[in-house]
Amino acid sequence: MVETLDNVYAYAIADYWRHEYCQLIQSKLPSMRDICMHENDQAYSFAKEHVIRASGLLSLFMPQTLGIGVGVKGLDGRYQLVNLAMESQLGMRAAQIMNKTDGDLFSPDIAEQLQRSDLQILEGAAATSDEVVLSANGVSLRSLWLKFPVIGSDGHILSIGSVVLDISKQADIAELRHSLNLLQQTNHELRKTLAELGLQASTDTLTGAWNRRRLEETVINEMDRLKRYEHPLSLLIIDIDLFKKTNDDFGHLVGDQVLMELAGVIRACLRATDSLTRWGGEEFVVLSPNTTLSTMSVLAERLRKKIGKAVFPVVGTITVSIGGAECLPGEIWEQWFNRADAALYRAKACGRNLVQIAPETPQGMGVGENVSANFLQLSWHRAYECGHALIDDQHRALFGHANKLLAAILSRRPNEEVAALIDALVREVAQHFKDEEKIITAAGFSGAAKHAIIHRELIDKAVILVNSFHAGTLTLGDMFQFLAYDVVARHMLGADREYFPYLA
Ligand code: GH3
Ligand code: MG
Ligand code: MG
Repeated sequence: MVETLDNVYAYAIADYWRHEYCQLIQSKLPSMRDICMHENDQAYSFAKEHVIRASGLLSLFMPQTLGIGVGVKGLDGRYQLVNLAMESQLGMRAAQIMNKTDGDLFSPDIAEQLQRSDLQILEGAAATSDEVVLSANGVSLRSLWLKFPVIGSDGHILSIGSVVLDISKQADIAELRHSLNLLQQTNHELRKTLAELGLQASTDTLTGAWNRRRLEETVINEMDRLKRYEHPLSLLIIDIDLFKKTNDDFGHLVGDQVLMELAGVIRACLRATDSLTRWGGEEFVVLSPNTTLSTMSVLAERLRKKIGKAVFPVVGTITVSIGGAECLPGEIWEQWFNRADAALYRAKACGRNLVQIAPETPQGMGVGENVSANFLQLSWHRAYECGHALIDDQHRALFGHANKLLAAILSRRPNEEVAALIDALVREVAQHFKDEEKIITAAGFSGAAKHAIIHRELIDKAVILVNSFHAGTLTLGDMFQFLAYDVVARHMLGADREYFPYLA
């Protein structure tokens, strides 16, 4: 967000000039005051187009009352800006100076002297100093002419700045020294402010999230770690659905508030090592180091649901679409990001309020024929056994079939194949539930009726997943969430354990 920082400089300068012009014009020509407030104000438009980077240089735009002339000329040697002090030092109006070169304005020897120092600045000098005798309105004036480069946002020299000090009156030397002290002090203050601005420049002011620049800087380091230590690295792009309509219906300010609160909702779901970036308008990016695609799809699904349930001021609820991708070795940032962006596009195209994850994984899985998605598996543990042979066999078999289904979805097997696996799994689960209900009722488990209700709910949920598969909107995250969390973690390791004592 280089532009933000640059704009701050530009506006600081513009404000300063406006202020200076105002003070002066107010004291001399009060009726002209409004003119300097106009947007076309010469200083304002200059400041808008130019950037003075080094903090110290800003301080040179000191109050007019110090009598320090300031001028800026372009690389073509023509003046683009002069302040009032410089006008009076040269004995000319700004209009006479503007767009003129030193050759046009001064005698050949002075012009040559000034052009020499211009050359030094162009060759990289940080500053130059010349004693120049100017004559204005028949009065000659000994002046110290300091020059400095004005640096543009791309780090290249944009123009040449001049500071002209009147050194003809010896009595003024003490005053000058005092002024320079003041300049130094101001300079110090400015440095402090600019350091703070530097911090702000890496953060989005509305949401407090990182901005694009900061993410891109961080990503380079993280991708380097991926290369060296093979740490997995994943990213999500979150985009608000139909946000334009939210703005149209409720206004931009309400929209802004939604963006602000949304950042908070997302942040609450993230781990300390994840980062949140406002990528642009209504688009956020989550960068997750040490995270594989499977974990990322679970996080994405959780985020989507959390956001869908959150209540936002005025607008009520919103939905988001999410695209994700895991970084592949050898991939550059743009390729990785584009894969996540393509996944986001799919989520939008499939009807929004969806997660889509790019299927490619570092092992090269997801495209081949004989792919085993062994990193995304439910693994069986002895501790899951209840001691009843049939129930344990069925539970183990369900694990096996769930793993097959996950691998098939992940490796993008043909739809008929996935459909067959889903149907088989749902049938198997239904059969298992029936058998289990019979067994636990016979064993005298008092919670049997309640347990059957939980079974019913899981079957209902499975049917919803089947439907979303047929609608083309089933995601790996949905499936994994259901199998790993709803069935295994919550049901088999939770509810099922209540009947274990009755079977022992
Ligand atoms: P889609 O579901 O396809 O993403 O639809 P959309 O309307 O969200 O997408 P589109 O890209 O067409 O429009 C994005 C809108 O987001 C445009 C603008 O109204 C809004 N927007 C972008 N940045 C800001 C912002 O900083 N504040 C507010 N309030 N709205 C913003
Ligand atoms: Mg968008
Ligand atoms: Mg959108």
